[in-house]
Amino acid sequence: MNPISRRAALLAALATLLVAGRPAPAAAAEKLRLLIIDGQNNHNWKAMTPPMVASLEATGRFAVDVATTPDAKAPKDAWESFRPDFSKYDVVLSNYNGQPWPERVQKALEEYVAGGGGLVIVHAANNAFEKWPEWNKMIGLGWRNNKFGDRVTLDDSGKVVRTPAGEGPGAGHGPQHAYKVVVRDKDHPVTKGMPETWMHAQDELYHGQRGPAENMQILATAHSDKAKGGTGANEPMIWVIPYGKGRVFTTLLGHVGGGDAPAIRCVGFQTVVARGAEWAATGKVTIPIPEDFPTADKVSLSGSKK
Ligand code: ZN
Repeated sequence: MNPISRRAALLAALATLLVAGRPAPAAAAEKLRLLIIDGQNNHNWKAMTPPMVASLEATGRFAVDVATTPDAKAPKDAWESFRPDFSKYDVVLSNYNGQPWPERVQKALEEYVAGGGGLVIVHAANNAFEKWPEWNKMIGLGWRNNKFGDRVTLDDSGKVVRTPAGEGPGAGHGPQHAYKVVVRDKDHPVTKGMPETWMHAQDELYHGQRGPAENMQILATAHSDKAKGGTGANEPMIWVIPYGKGRVFTTLLGHVGGGDAPAIRCVGFQTVVARGAEWAATGKVTIPIPEDFPTADKVSLSGSKK
């Protein structure tokens, strides 16, 4: 655009503004700015980030950027250039499980969330940063051994059961299988309107997660079947925790190894991540539950024939 047409465009925009009496919202400005962090993981993060970006952007609610860390073999000074500017974003999503971030990045994330930023933890992102105390507070429960902290499960009536450090199992999972996710909080914006139980596509079912678990609100659980290598307990799958003025949303769903990745093709997973991210960013949810959301006994995969 040359300077003259730029000025004309500016004047036109100003006229619109004056006529409307308030700034006309530009479509792009309405989108929530979401930053995915990846770059190291014991999972196939390279196969996981692009479909997550696509399904988030398909909601029309997000403009997504990705910040990729140096890899594990990179020289130490490579981390100097890893300085994500969290303040530019409404919500940060971690698809990262690797080396500790530099302390300044850790502090920046703490300040960002404490100041009102949103944080979303997907699957193995909760395996990371065992020695970062504020991170452990934000995630509540992580993939840790049983001495690390409390374990939290729900009994069959939905009552929270805390098992102290040192007792019961630490983190683990049995072989992957499709399983039922049970909504435990029907009034939370993220889970409101979801079927009470819905069939999640083949995935790992994490159990025995450990941590400080302070102010943790459990939105959904899954029964960890002993016959499938589990604990026999209702393990938390989706939860939220306030941190300062910010909101942290965690889902343990979403394993991606090699080959096909039904866990993240699950319409349930995609809906949970999108609604969780919108809630973490704004405290509200406008993204609808799609018509092809899984039912109590039927898995629903995006991109497959109906
Ligand atoms: Zn996994």
